Amino acid sequence: MKGGHRILKIFTRALSLVALVWIILHGNLLLWIGTFVVFAIASVALSRLYCGWVCPMSLIMDGISSLRDRMGIKKPSRPLRTRVPWLQALSLVVFFGALVSVQTLHLKLPLLPLLVAIAVTVSLFAHESLFHSSMCPFGMIQSWLSRWALWGNRVDTDRCVGCGKCQTVCPNRCAIVADGKASIELGLCLQCGSCVDVCPVDAIGYHRRKGGQQ
Ligand code: SF4
Ligand code: SF4
Repeated sequence: MKGGHRILKIFTRALSLVALVWIILHGNLLLWIGTFVVFAIASVALSRLYCGWVCPMSLIMDGISSLRDRMGIKKPSRPLRTRVPWLQALSLVVFFGALVSVQTLHLKLPLLPLLVAIAVTVSLFAHESLFHSSMCPFGMIQSWLSRWALWGNRVDTDRCVGCGKCQTVCPNRCAIVADGKASIELGLCLQCGSCVDVCPVDAIGYHRRKGGQQ
């Protein structure tokens, strides 16, 4: 099942990378924004599926991260805070200001290529969680909308043995082990499934919220 999920994820993200290249070549930015709006609305119930399964920036960043691992290059350390409020505000103002300028003043700003360039630069010189939580406007919006989502990756604490593997692989610092048990902050979770792949006791899965769960 884990293998099947990995292959499906590679397929959806590769498809989305092809779509991104097509949209960049045809300058059809609104198509991308429209796709994102659909996923953003869905994230209220289904969490950030866009980030883990569709976003081509995530695919590029994961590629750089695994290349770095294979070459034995140490990953930059995680920022002290997952969300950096001033950077979030700056990124939103710059992105939506540029988007409105492109649409109303017909400026020839290559917004998507610029976003890809920023994602690549961040993955080369900083921890990727900085991009996912404080720079990507799509990620930030979904983070707010999915905080109380009905469905999402959750930990079965009865199974969890507190080994910390999920915490180590999590790209967005949202799988945290405390007092011998892991938990996942849903608003930050990219639904990438990396923790699902490494958990030795299959304690993590995409489940519906129960009772008082987050
Ligand atoms: S990898 Fe699995 S068992 Fe280990 S801490 Fe995470 S949820 Fe618990
Ligand atoms: S908690 Fe798991 S699914 Fe969510 S971002 Fe971290 S590794 Fe990915």
